[in-house]
Amino acid sequence: MRIANLAGRLVLLSGDGAVDVERASGGVFSADPQAVFERWDEFTAWAGQADVSGAEPYAVGDLGAPVPAPRQILAIGLNYRDHATESGFDIPQNPVVFTKFVSSLTGPTGDIALPEGNVDWEVELVAVIGRRAYRVSAEQGWDHVAGLTVGQDVSERISQFNAPPAQFNMGKSFPGFGPLGPVLVTPDELDDRDDIELGCTLNGESVQKGRTSDLIFSIPVLIERLSAVMPLLPGDIIFTGTPAGVGMGRTPARWISVGDELVTYVKGIGEMRHRFVAP
Ligand code: ZN
Repeated sequence: MRIANLAGRLVLLSGDGAVDVERASGGVFSADPQAVFERWDEFTAWAGQADVSGAEPYAVGDLGAPVPAPRQILAIGLNYRDHATESGFDIPQNPVVFTKFVSSLTGPTGDIALPEGNVDWEVELVAVIGRRAYRVSAEQGWDHVAGLTVGQDVSERISQFNAPPAQFNMGKSFPGFGPLGPVLVTPDELDDRDDIELGCTLNGESVQKGRTSDLIFSIPVLIERLSAVMPLLPGDIIFTGTPAGVGMGRTPARWISVGDELVTYVKGIGEMRHRFVAP
C-alpha cells in the first residue's frame, strides 16, 4: 500500500491515481494525513478492500510531507560505517540519537531557503511508527512500523558543531531542513525491506549512494534501543542515518549554494526534488 498527503488531504494511491480517503470511506477516516497512524490497523484493513476505481491523476507538486506533524522525530547519527569514518568518528557502540524539531519538516518538492553557514545533504530512509512501541524487542520491531518514506537530513555544519559539545538538534532544524516524501510505502511493497538502495544527486551529479543493509543499527534494532527508553508513538518518525558521500566528508569540503538542485531517492519509494534559494 502507498499513501500520500495531497494538498493536505490523506490519499490512497492506486496506479498513477489517488483516492481521497475521507470521501472514499464515507467519513470513517479523517482527511488529516497525520491522524491515520492512530488507527493504522483499522485503516490498512479498510484500504485492502477499498474501491479505488475512482482514482484520479494528481500533480507531484501538490504532495506534502506524508507525515506532516509527528509528536516525536528521532534521528540517528553515524549509522553507516563508511559515513562514520568519513566524518572522523569511531564506529558507535550505541545509537547516536538526536532530533530534528518538527518545524523543520517540509514536503517532497519546492524551494528551501539557504541559511548562512555550511549546508550539507544527507539522504536517509525514514521509518514511520504505526503501533505504539515501548520496550519492544528487535524481533518485534518491524511489527511497529507503518511504512517507509524518503527523508533528507539537511544539516548546517557550523551550528551543528559550534558549542562544543555538538548541537545536532540545532544545526539540523532550520526551516525546510526535514523534507519527507513523496509517499509512504508499506514495507511489504519492497523486494527486501532490510536491503534498500538510497542516494541523492546535486545538480545531476551523484553524491551519495548506499544500501540500508549497511546500517550499523537496523530499523528493528533501533526500535528496540529507542523504545527501551521512551514509548514510540503512532506517527512518530525515525531518520535512520546517512551513508557516505556528504559534503563535509570531502576534501575540500563541499557545501550547497543558492540555485543548487538536490534530488533525493529511495528505490521502491520515490524521489524528492528541492531547489535551494536565497533566504
Ligand atoms: Zn543524518
